[in-house]
Amino acid sequence: MNLDFDQQHIWHPYTSAVSPLPCYPVEKADGVRIYLQTGEVLIDAMSSWWAAVHGYNHPHLNQAAHRQIDKMAHVMFGGLTHEPAISLCQTLLDMVPQGLNRVFLADSGSVAVEVAMKMALQYWACQGNPGKHKFISPRNGYHGDTFAAMSVCDPVNGMHSLFNDVLSKQIFTPAPQTRFGQVWNEDDIQPLNELMQRHHHEIAALIIEPIVQGAGGMRVYHPEYLKRARQLCDEFNVLLIADEIATGFGRTGKLFACEHAGISPDILCLGKALTGGYMTLAATLCSEDVAVGVCQGQPGVFMHGPTYMGNPLACAVANASLEILQQGHWQTQVSQIERQLRAELLPLSNLSAVADTRVLGAIGVVECKTAVDVARLQRKFVSQGVWIRPFGKLVYIMPPYIINQDDLSQIIRAIASALAD
Ligand SMILES: *Cc1c(COP(=O)(O)O)cnc(C)c1O
Repeated sequence: MNLDFDQQHIWHPYTSAVSPLPCYPVEKADGVRIYLQTGEVLIDAMSSWWAAVHGYNHPHLNQAAHRQIDKMAHVMFGGLTHEPAISLCQTLLDMVPQGLNRVFLADSGSVAVEVAMKMALQYWACQGNPGKHKFISPRNGYHGDTFAAMSVCDPVNGMHSLFNDVLSKQIFTPAPQTRFGQVWNEDDIQPLNELMQRHHHEIAALIIEPIVQGAGGMRVYHPEYLKRARQLCDEFNVLLIADEIATGFGRTGKLFACEHAGISPDILCLGKALTGGYMTLAATLCSEDVAVGVCQGQPGVFMHGPTYMGNPLACAVANASLEILQQGHWQTQVSQIERQLRAELLPLSNLSAVADTRVLGAIGVVECKTAVDVARLQRKFVSQGVWIRPFGKLVYIMPPYIINQDDLSQIIRAIASALAD
Protein backbone atom coordinates (compact mmCIF):
# COMPACT_ATOMS: atom_id res chain seq x y z
CA MET A 1 0.00 0.00 0.00
CA ASN A 2 1.31 3.42 -0.95
CA LEU A 3 1.04 5.16 2.43
CA ASP A 4 3.04 8.15 1.22
CA PHE A 5 0.40 8.81 -1.41
CA ASP A 6 -2.28 8.50 1.26
CA GLN A 7 -0.46 11.04 3.43
CA GLN A 8 0.12 13.48 0.62
CA HIS A 9 -3.20 13.37 -1.26
CA ILE A 10 -6.07 11.86 0.74
CA TRP A 11 -8.18 13.56 3.40
CA HIS A 12 -9.12 11.45 6.38
CA PRO A 13 -11.88 12.40 8.85
CA TYR A 14 -11.18 15.43 11.04
CA THR A 15 -7.48 15.67 10.27
CA SER A 16 -5.03 18.12 8.82
CA ALA A 17 -4.02 17.73 5.19
CA VAL A 18 -0.55 19.09 5.91
CA SER A 19 0.32 17.18 9.08
CA PRO A 20 -2.16 14.32 9.26
CA LEU A 21 -2.29 11.80 12.10
CA PRO A 22 -0.78 8.45 11.14
CA CYS A 23 -3.08 5.95 9.43
CA TYR A 24 -2.85 2.18 9.80
CA PRO A 25 -3.20 0.11 6.60
CA VAL A 26 -5.95 -2.53 6.82
CA GLU A 27 -5.78 -5.73 4.81
CA LYS A 28 -9.09 -7.27 5.88
CA ALA A 29 -11.48 -7.51 8.79
CA ASP A 30 -13.41 -10.48 10.15
CA GLY A 31 -15.65 -10.83 13.20
CA VAL A 32 -14.28 -8.40 15.80
CA ARG A 33 -10.79 -8.42 14.30
CA ILE A 34 -9.08 -5.91 12.01
CA TYR A 35 -6.00 -7.30 10.21
CA LEU A 36 -3.30 -4.77 9.44
CA GLN A 37 -1.05 -5.12 6.43
CA THR A 38 1.88 -4.87 8.81
CA GLY A 39 0.84 -8.09 10.53
CA GLU A 40 -0.84 -6.80 13.69
CA VAL A 41 -4.30 -8.12 14.49
CA LEU A 42 -6.54 -5.68 16.36
CA ILE A 43 -9.67 -6.31 18.41
CA ASP A 44 -12.18 -3.71 17.29
CA ALA A 45 -13.65 -1.51 20.03
CA MET A 46 -15.32 1.04 17.74
CA SER A 47 -17.65 -0.92 15.42
CA SER A 48 -16.34 1.49 12.77
CA TRP A 49 -18.13 4.40 14.50
CA TRP A 50 -21.26 2.62 15.81
CA ALA A 51 -21.95 0.81 12.56
CA ALA A 52 -20.53 -2.73 12.44
CA VAL A 53 -22.72 -4.17 15.22
CA HIS A 54 -22.55 -7.77 13.94
CA GLY A 55 -18.81 -7.67 13.27
CA TYR A 56 -17.00 -7.64 9.94
CA ASN A 57 -17.29 -10.00 6.97
CA HIS A 58 -20.55 -11.47 8.26
CA PRO A 59 -21.76 -14.46 6.16
CA HIS A 60 -25.43 -13.41 6.23
CA LEU A 61 -24.69 -9.83 5.20
CA ASN A 62 -22.17 -10.95 2.58
CA GLN A 63 -24.74 -13.30 1.07
CA ALA A 64 -27.35 -10.53 0.91
CA ALA A 65 -24.88 -8.25 -0.88
CA HIS A 66 -23.85 -10.99 -3.35
CA ARG A 67 -27.45 -11.94 -4.14
CA GLN A 68 -28.50 -8.35 -4.67
CA ILE A 69 -25.54 -7.32 -6.81
CA ASP A 70 -26.31 -10.12 -9.26
CA LYS A 71 -29.80 -8.67 -9.73
CA MET A 72 -29.04 -4.94 -9.72
CA ALA A 73 -26.69 -2.73 -7.77
CA HIS A 74 -28.81 0.35 -8.26
CA VAL A 75 -31.69 1.88 -10.12
CA MET A 76 -33.01 5.41 -9.70
CA PHE A 77 -35.77 5.73 -7.11
CA GLY A 78 -37.61 8.46 -9.01
CA GLY A 79 -40.56 6.64 -10.60
CA LEU A 80 -39.11 3.18 -9.86
CA THR A 81 -39.26 1.02 -6.75
CA HIS A 82 -38.00 -2.40 -5.65
CA GLU A 83 -38.39 -5.16 -3.10
CA PRO A 84 -35.25 -4.37 -1.01
CA ALA A 85 -36.55 -0.85 -0.27
CA ILE A 86 -40.13 -1.96 0.36
CA SER A 87 -39.09 -4.74 2.80
CA LEU A 88 -36.69 -2.42 4.56
CA CYS A 89 -39.26 0.30 5.13
CA GLN A 90 -41.86 -2.25 6.31
CA THR A 91 -39.38 -3.68 8.81
CA LEU A 92 -38.33 -0.25 10.03
CA LEU A 93 -41.92 0.85 10.62
CA ASP A 94 -42.51 -2.37 12.60
CA MET A 95 -39.44 -1.78 14.76
CA VAL A 96 -39.50 1.92 15.59
CA PRO A 97 -41.53 3.63 18.32
CA GLN A 98 -45.22 3.90 17.38
CA GLY A 99 -46.67 6.82 15.50
CA LEU A 100 -44.09 6.94 12.72
CA ASN A 101 -45.60 6.09 9.39
CA ARG A 102 -43.48 7.38 6.49
CA VAL A 103 -39.89 6.66 5.51
CA PHE A 104 -37.47 8.81 3.51
CA LEU A 105 -34.33 6.87 2.55
CA ALA A 106 -31.24 9.05 2.61
CA ASP A 107 -27.62 8.29 1.86
CA SER A 108 -25.87 9.32 5.07
CA GLY A 109 -26.66 10.38 8.59
CA SER A 110 -25.99 14.03 7.93
CA VAL A 111 -28.35 13.98 4.96
CA ALA A 112 -31.01 12.26 7.10
CA VAL A 113 -30.69 15.19 9.53
CA GLU A 114 -30.91 17.73 6.68
CA VAL A 115 -34.05 15.99 5.48
CA ALA A 116 -35.55 16.01 9.00
CA MET A 117 -34.86 19.73 9.40
CA LYS A 118 -36.21 20.54 5.95
CA MET A 119 -39.37 18.54 6.71
CA ALA A 120 -39.91 20.49 9.93
CA LEU A 121 -39.46 23.85 8.19
CA GLN A 122 -41.70 22.92 5.28
CA TYR A 123 -44.31 21.54 7.70
CA TRP A 124 -44.71 24.88 9.44
CA ALA A 125 -44.47 26.89 6.24
CA CYS A 126 -47.30 24.81 4.75
CA GLN A 127 -49.40 25.36 7.90
CA GLY A 128 -49.15 29.09 7.20
CA ASN A 129 -46.64 29.48 10.00
CA PRO A 130 -43.32 30.31 8.30
CA GLY A 131 -42.20 32.21 11.43
CA LYS A 132 -41.46 28.84 13.02
CA HIS A 133 -38.12 28.51 11.27
CA LYS A 134 -35.57 27.91 14.02
CA PHE A 135 -34.38 24.84 15.85
CA ILE A 136 -33.69 24.37 19.50
CA SER A 137 -31.09 21.87 20.62
CA PRO A 138 -29.18 20.96 23.78
CA ARG A 139 -25.52 21.90 23.95
CA ASN A 140 -22.99 19.09 23.51
CA GLY A 141 -25.08 17.67 20.69
CA TYR A 142 -23.76 16.23 17.44
CA HIS A 143 -25.91 15.86 14.34
CA GLY A 144 -23.50 15.69 11.41
CA ASP A 145 -21.16 17.79 9.31
CA THR A 146 -23.34 19.38 6.62
CA PHE A 147 -24.43 22.99 7.15
CA ALA A 148 -27.94 22.61 8.56
CA ALA A 149 -26.78 19.70 10.73
CA MET A 150 -23.76 21.72 11.83
CA SER A 151 -25.99 24.62 12.91
CA VAL A 152 -27.54 22.41 15.62
CA CYS A 153 -24.26 20.80 16.76
CA ASP A 154 -22.70 22.14 19.96
CA PRO A 155 -21.62 25.71 19.09
CA VAL A 156 -18.16 25.24 20.63
CA ASN A 157 -17.31 21.72 19.41
CA GLY A 158 -19.00 22.55 16.11
CA MET A 159 -16.79 25.64 15.72
CA HIS A 160 -19.73 27.91 14.93
CA SER A 161 -17.61 31.05 15.22
CA LEU A 162 -15.61 29.90 12.19
CA PHE A 163 -18.78 29.75 10.08
CA ASN A 164 -20.61 32.61 11.73
CA ASP A 165 -21.78 34.24 8.53
CA VAL A 166 -23.22 31.14 6.91
CA LEU A 167 -24.60 29.02 9.75
CA SER A 168 -28.24 29.59 10.68
CA LYS A 169 -28.54 30.93 14.22
CA GLN A 170 -30.31 28.32 16.30
CA ILE A 171 -31.34 28.30 19.96
CA PHE A 172 -29.28 26.30 22.43
CA THR A 173 -30.37 25.03 25.81
CA PRO A 174 -27.87 23.71 28.37
CA ALA A 175 -27.08 20.00 28.02
CA PRO A 176 -29.10 17.74 30.36
CA GLN A 177 -27.29 17.47 33.70
CA THR A 178 -29.03 14.62 35.53
CA ARG A 179 -27.24 11.44 34.62
CA PHE A 180 -28.86 8.17 33.69
CA GLY A 181 -29.45 6.26 36.92
CA GLN A 182 -29.28 9.33 39.18
CA VAL A 183 -32.29 10.78 40.98
CA TRP A 184 -34.12 13.11 38.59
CA ASN A 185 -33.61 16.79 39.34
CA GLU A 186 -36.58 18.91 38.33
CA ASP A 187 -34.34 21.95 37.76
CA ASP A 188 -32.81 20.14 34.82
CA ILE A 189 -35.76 20.81 32.53
CA GLN A 190 -36.24 24.47 33.50
CA PRO A 191 -33.91 26.04 30.90
CA LEU A 192 -35.66 24.20 28.07
CA ASN A 193 -39.02 25.09 29.57
CA GLU A 194 -38.13 28.78 29.70
CA LEU A 195 -36.65 28.88 26.19
CA MET A 196 -39.74 27.14 24.82
CA GLN A 197 -42.03 29.64 26.56
CA ARG A 198 -40.06 32.54 25.21
CA HIS A 199 -39.34 31.34 21.67
CA HIS A 200 -41.95 28.72 20.67
CA HIS A 201 -43.47 31.04 18.06
CA GLU A 202 -40.19 30.89 16.12
CA ILE A 203 -39.22 27.25 16.82
CA ALA A 204 -39.95 24.59 14.21
CA ALA A 205 -38.48 21.66 16.13
CA LEU A 206 -36.40 20.46 19.03
CA ILE A 207 -33.61 18.22 17.73
CA ILE A 208 -32.03 15.92 20.27
CA GLU A 209 -30.03 12.71 20.58
CA PRO A 210 -32.11 10.48 22.87
CA ILE A 211 -30.36 9.47 26.15
CA VAL A 212 -26.80 9.40 24.79
CA GLN A 213 -25.17 12.51 23.35
CA GLY A 214 -22.54 10.97 21.09
CA ALA A 215 -19.70 12.76 19.34
CA GLY A 216 -20.46 16.03 21.17
CA GLY A 217 -19.25 14.64 24.50
CA MET A 218 -20.47 11.06 25.07
CA ARG A 219 -22.87 12.13 27.83
CA VAL A 220 -25.58 9.81 29.15
CA TYR A 221 -28.62 11.59 30.58
CA HIS A 222 -31.81 10.84 32.49
CA PRO A 223 -34.80 9.53 30.48
CA GLU A 224 -37.08 11.93 32.39
CA TYR A 225 -35.41 14.79 30.50
CA LEU A 226 -36.52 13.28 27.19
CA LYS A 227 -40.00 12.58 28.52
CA ARG A 228 -40.39 16.17 29.67
CA ALA A 229 -38.93 17.47 26.40
CA ARG A 230 -41.64 15.51 24.56
CA GLN A 231 -44.31 17.11 26.80
CA LEU A 232 -42.90 20.59 26.22
CA CYS A 233 -42.94 20.02 22.46
CA ASP A 234 -46.62 19.05 22.67
CA GLU A 235 -47.46 21.96 24.93
CA PHE A 236 -45.73 24.55 22.74
CA ASN A 237 -46.53 23.14 19.31
CA VAL A 238 -42.95 22.28 18.45
CA LEU A 239 -41.96 19.14 16.52
CA LEU A 240 -39.59 16.66 18.13
CA ILE A 241 -36.76 15.29 15.98
CA ALA A 242 -34.98 12.33 17.59
CA ASP A 243 -31.53 11.75 16.12
CA GLU A 244 -30.95 8.03 16.78
CA ILE A 245 -28.23 7.72 14.16
CA ALA A 246 -25.76 6.59 16.85
CA THR A 247 -28.12 5.15 19.47
CA GLY A 248 -30.46 3.15 17.23
CA PHE A 249 -30.55 -0.62 16.74
CA GLY A 250 -29.82 -1.80 20.28
CA ARG A 251 -26.67 0.09 21.24
CA THR A 252 -28.08 1.54 24.49
CA GLY A 253 -29.77 -1.68 25.62
CA LYS A 254 -33.11 -0.80 24.00
CA LEU A 255 -33.76 -1.20 20.29
CA PHE A 256 -34.16 2.60 20.17
CA ALA A 257 -33.05 4.95 22.95
CA CYS A 258 -36.45 6.71 22.89
CA GLU A 259 -37.81 3.55 24.53
CA HIS A 260 -35.93 4.39 27.75
CA ALA A 261 -38.34 7.32 28.08
CA GLY A 262 -41.34 5.63 26.46
CA ILE A 263 -41.74 8.44 23.94
CA SER A 264 -42.17 8.71 20.18
CA PRO A 265 -40.71 11.57 18.17
CA ASP A 266 -42.49 13.27 15.26
CA ILE A 267 -39.39 12.73 13.11
CA LEU A 268 -36.73 10.05 13.61
CA CYS A 269 -33.26 9.89 12.02
CA LEU A 270 -31.52 6.53 11.62
CA GLY A 271 -28.19 5.61 10.06
CA LYS A 272 -24.85 4.11 11.11
CA ALA A 273 -25.82 0.53 12.20
CA LEU A 274 -28.69 0.42 9.69
CA THR A 275 -26.62 -1.68 7.26
CA GLY A 276 -24.55 -3.39 9.96
CA GLY A 277 -21.57 -1.30 8.86
CA TYR A 278 -21.56 -2.42 5.23
CA MET A 279 -22.78 0.51 3.19
CA THR A 280 -23.80 4.09 3.65
CA LEU A 281 -27.55 4.34 4.15
CA ALA A 282 -29.76 6.37 6.45
CA ALA A 283 -33.45 7.02 6.93
CA THR A 284 -35.70 9.83 8.12
CA LEU A 285 -39.06 8.62 9.41
CA CYS A 286 -42.00 10.84 10.25
CA SER A 287 -45.55 10.71 11.51
CA GLU A 288 -48.54 10.79 9.17
CA ASP A 289 -49.35 14.26 10.50
CA VAL A 290 -45.92 15.60 9.52
CA ALA A 291 -46.01 13.91 6.10
CA VAL A 292 -49.48 15.24 5.31
CA GLY A 293 -48.57 18.68 6.69
CA VAL A 294 -45.46 18.89 4.51
CA CYS A 295 -47.43 18.11 1.36
CA GLN A 296 -50.32 20.53 1.96
CA GLY A 297 -50.71 23.53 -0.35
CA GLN A 298 -47.75 24.68 -2.41
CA PRO A 299 -45.37 23.19 -3.56
CA GLY A 300 -47.22 20.03 -2.50
CA VAL A 301 -44.13 17.85 -2.72
CA PHE A 302 -41.08 17.35 -0.54
CA MET A 303 -38.15 18.74 -2.51
CA HIS A 304 -35.39 16.27 -1.76
CA GLY A 305 -34.16 13.26 -3.73
CA PRO A 306 -30.59 12.01 -3.53
CA THR A 307 -29.26 10.28 -6.66
CA TYR A 308 -28.61 7.08 -4.73
CA MET A 309 -31.88 7.24 -2.78
CA GLY A 310 -33.07 3.77 -1.79
CA ASN A 311 -29.96 2.11 -3.18
CA PRO A 312 -31.00 -1.56 -3.57
CA LEU A 313 -27.62 -2.97 -2.55
CA ALA A 314 -27.61 -0.97 0.68
CA CYS A 315 -31.27 -1.82 1.36
CA ALA A 316 -30.62 -5.53 0.81
CA VAL A 317 -27.75 -5.52 3.30
CA ALA A 318 -29.83 -3.47 5.75
CA ASN A 319 -32.60 -6.07 5.50
CA ALA A 320 -30.09 -8.80 6.34
CA SER A 321 -28.75 -6.80 9.28
CA LEU A 322 -32.26 -6.18 10.65
CA GLU A 323 -33.05 -9.90 10.28
CA ILE A 324 -30.18 -10.67 12.61
CA LEU A 325 -31.40 -8.05 15.09
CA GLN A 326 -34.92 -9.45 14.93
CA GLN A 327 -33.62 -12.82 16.11
CA GLY A 328 -33.10 -10.99 19.39
CA HIS A 329 -29.63 -12.18 20.47
CA TRP A 330 -28.50 -8.56 20.58
CA GLN A 331 -30.35 -8.11 23.86
CA THR A 332 -28.32 -10.73 25.71
CA GLN A 333 -25.13 -9.61 23.99
CA VAL A 334 -25.58 -5.94 24.84
CA SER A 335 -26.54 -6.64 28.46
CA GLN A 336 -23.51 -8.93 28.87
CA ILE A 337 -21.26 -6.20 27.47
CA GLU A 338 -22.92 -3.67 29.79
CA ARG A 339 -22.37 -5.89 32.85
CA GLN A 340 -18.72 -6.40 31.97
CA LEU A 341 -18.14 -2.70 31.28
CA ARG A 342 -19.67 -1.86 34.66
CA ALA A 343 -17.44 -4.38 36.39
CA GLU A 344 -14.18 -3.65 34.56
CA LEU A 345 -14.33 -0.20 32.95
CA LEU A 346 -16.11 1.89 35.59
CA PRO A 347 -13.27 1.27 38.13
CA LEU A 348 -10.84 3.08 35.80
CA SER A 349 -12.19 6.28 37.42
CA ASN A 350 -9.58 5.54 40.11
CA LEU A 351 -6.73 6.37 37.72
CA SER A 352 -5.27 9.81 38.36
CA ALA A 353 -5.58 10.81 34.68
CA VAL A 354 -9.29 9.99 34.63
CA ALA A 355 -12.06 12.48 35.46
CA ASP A 356 -15.07 10.22 34.97
CA THR A 357 -16.26 6.89 33.62
CA ARG A 358 -19.74 5.99 32.39
CA VAL A 359 -21.51 3.06 30.79
CA LEU A 360 -24.84 2.47 29.09
CA GLY A 361 -25.64 -0.64 27.06
CA ALA A 362 -22.69 -1.51 24.85
CA ILE A 363 -21.12 1.95 25.28
CA GLY A 364 -18.21 2.61 27.62
CA VAL A 365 -16.70 6.05 28.18
CA VAL A 366 -13.52 7.10 29.99
CA GLU A 367 -13.27 10.88 30.25
CA CYS A 368 -9.75 12.11 31.01
CA LYS A 369 -8.85 15.29 32.85
CA THR A 370 -7.05 16.71 29.83
CA ALA A 371 -7.13 16.08 26.09
CA VAL A 372 -5.30 12.89 25.19
CA ASP A 373 -2.44 12.59 22.70
CA VAL A 374 -4.33 10.62 20.06
CA ALA A 375 -1.31 9.51 18.02
CA ARG A 376 0.61 8.31 21.09
CA LEU A 377 -2.39 6.53 22.61
CA GLN A 378 -3.25 4.89 19.33
CA ARG A 379 0.30 3.53 18.96
CA LYS A 380 -0.03 2.01 22.42
CA PHE A 381 -3.42 0.52 21.67
CA VAL A 382 -2.17 -1.00 18.40
CA SER A 383 0.86 -2.47 20.17
CA GLN A 384 -1.57 -4.09 22.62
CA GLY A 385 -3.72 -5.50 19.83
CA VAL A 386 -6.79 -3.29 20.11
CA TRP A 387 -8.41 -0.63 17.92
CA ILE A 388 -9.69 2.44 19.78
CA ARG A 389 -9.97 5.96 18.37
CA PRO A 390 -10.05 8.55 21.18
CA PHE A 391 -10.99 12.19 20.65
CA GLY A 392 -10.47 15.20 22.89
CA LYS A 393 -10.59 14.03 26.51
CA LEU A 394 -12.56 10.93 25.62
CA VAL A 395 -11.44 7.34 25.29
CA TYR A 396 -14.71 5.61 24.44
CA ILE A 397 -15.68 2.22 23.12
CA MET A 398 -18.73 0.69 21.47
CA PRO A 399 -17.63 -2.79 20.36
CA PRO A 400 -19.53 -5.08 17.99
CA TYR A 401 -22.32 -6.90 19.88
CA ILE A 402 -20.66 -10.26 19.10
CA ILE A 403 -17.51 -9.50 21.10
CA ASN A 404 -16.62 -12.13 23.72
CA GLN A 405 -15.55 -11.57 27.34
CA ASP A 406 -11.83 -12.17 26.81
CA ASP A 407 -11.61 -9.75 23.89
CA LEU A 408 -13.51 -7.07 25.78
CA SER A 409 -11.23 -7.57 28.82
CA GLN A 410 -8.22 -7.11 26.58
CA ILE A 411 -9.65 -3.79 25.31
CA ILE A 412 -10.29 -2.53 28.84
CA ARG A 413 -6.84 -3.63 30.04
CA ALA A 414 -5.28 -1.76 27.11
CA ILE A 415 -7.14 1.43 28.13
CA ALA A 416 -6.11 0.99 31.75
CA SER A 417 -2.46 0.51 30.86
CA ALA A 418 -2.37 3.36 28.33
CA LEU A 419 -3.91 5.80 30.79
CA ALA A 420 -1.80 4.62 33.71
CA ASP A 421 1.39 6.08 32.19
C1 LIG B 1 -22.67 10.11 13.03
C2 LIG B 1 -23.85 10.92 13.38
C3 LIG B 1 -24.47 11.75 12.43
C4 LIG B 1 -23.93 11.93 11.02
O1 LIG B 1 -23.96 10.76 10.29
P1 LIG B 1 -22.98 10.62 8.99
O2 LIG B 1 -23.41 9.32 8.38
O3 LIG B 1 -21.59 10.62 9.52
O4 LIG B 1 -23.26 11.78 8.11
C5 LIG B 1 -25.59 12.46 12.83
N1 LIG B 1 -26.07 12.35 14.08
C6 LIG B 1 -25.52 11.56 15.00
C7 LIG B 1 -26.13 11.46 16.36
C8 LIG B 1 -24.38 10.82 14.70
O5 LIG B 1 -23.80 10.06 15.63
